[in-house]
Amino acid sequence: MGVMDLQSEGAIVTTKLDTLVNAARSSSLWYMLFGLACCAIEMMATGAARYDFDRFGMIFRASPRQCDLMIVAGTVTKKMAPRVRRLWEQMAEPRYVLAMGSCAVSGGPFYDSYAVVKGVDQIVPVDMYVPGCPPRPEALLQGVLELQRRIRSGEIPPVRPVEPPPRPDLAYDGERAS
Ligand code: SF4
Repeated sequence: MGVMDLQSEGAIVTTKLDTLVNAARSSSLWYMLFGLACCAIEMMATGAARYDFDRFGMIFRASPRQCDLMIVAGTVTKKMAPRVRRLWEQMAEPRYVLAMGSCAVSGGPFYDSYAVVKGVDQIVPVDMYVPGCPPRPEALLQGVLELQRRIRSGEIPPVRPVEPPPRPDLAYDGERAS
């Protein structure tokens, strides 16, 4: 019996408000128009017609104020790290972070570079890791679907305390640190 059949019979469906709100949140993850290196091309491909992120309620937004999800797609350099942290701080709660690709997960091929952060989780909390160099759009889709499942099930609480980053020396520029 489908939902329309239930409606025609005047049936009542009961649920918890949390379940309803989590379902709505997980199905409208607006992600930031933001890319750092080659992985961003794969992210753009995932948003384009062939893979069609939109069908999962995933829409690019150009302002962090309107975003629920930051997909960190690419190499996080030490020069860029304070900007990434600042963009994350400008997002409203609930906000989620997905590290896409080996560079964002751990520094990737540049793990021993003096200029690269060895994983974006040193400056912002990460909810989902998608490894690969670069991960294919299917891998990003799977990571996002898994993130949606975790949000829907309540595994990820909507509001979390803002912890100081593990590497504040990388997360803030000189002006913020003083
Ligand atoms: S993980 Fe590979 S493809 Fe992605 S940004 Fe790093 S070097 Fe480029």
